[in-house]
Amino acid sequence: MDIEKIFAHNQVWIKEHIDSNPNFFDELSAGQNPEFLYIGCSDSRVTAEELLGAKPGEVFVHRNIANMVVGLDLNTTSVLAYAVEHLQVKHIVVCGHYNCGGIKSAMIPKDLGIMNPWLRNIRDVYRLHADELNSIENEAMRYNRLVELNVQEQCINVVKNPFVQRAMANGLRVHGWVFDLFTGKLIDLALDFDKILENIKEIYDIKPNA
Ligand SMILES: [Zn+2]
Repeated sequence: MDIEKIFAHNQVWIKEHIDSNPNFFDELSAGQNPEFLYIGCSDSRVTAEELLGAKPGEVFVHRNIANMVVGLDLNTTSVLAYAVEHLQVKHIVVCGHYNCGGIKSAMIPKDLGIMNPWLRNIRDVYRLHADELNSIENEAMRYNRLVELNVQEQCINVVKNPFVQRAMANGLRVHGWVFDLFTGKLIDLALDFDKILENIKEIYDIKPNA
């Protein structure tokens, strides 16, 4: 991959789209109406659109290190608000992946400078599930399980958002998935949010009045 190739590919891409639909760019520029918000890792191997088989206009995408949903992160919080309130997406997907460098870094007690506050959120997920994780002797399996538990916790962080809560009452669905880099498979963790949130509903049920 080099710069010249990128711009050459762009010309081919434009021609391919116009050949198959002369109105393609008129339609594309008219606006977006995606039904999915995808929150995933920045990892170059986990490409949102390719993974979902999505075309331009079909998925609103937010990516950061280890697919985190941190309440004080204005970037993620703004993406959530825009997706739910303005785009009125029908699905929010949090997608983690095995072999995630961000998760791996958080499992090693080491000073990583400017990344420390971000990784601390993942270390907190470990702390929340320390009993289960520490009972897994195989390190690779423990690492995979933390990837899954992190997706679960970030889904819960999505659900803590009051606008998401209101939209969920009107049919919005939240999904926790993991992409398995070793096989290429996309795995639905089939999280049961009612069950997960059962014990904490009293303090997290903050949805605004319609
Ligand atoms: Zn990752």
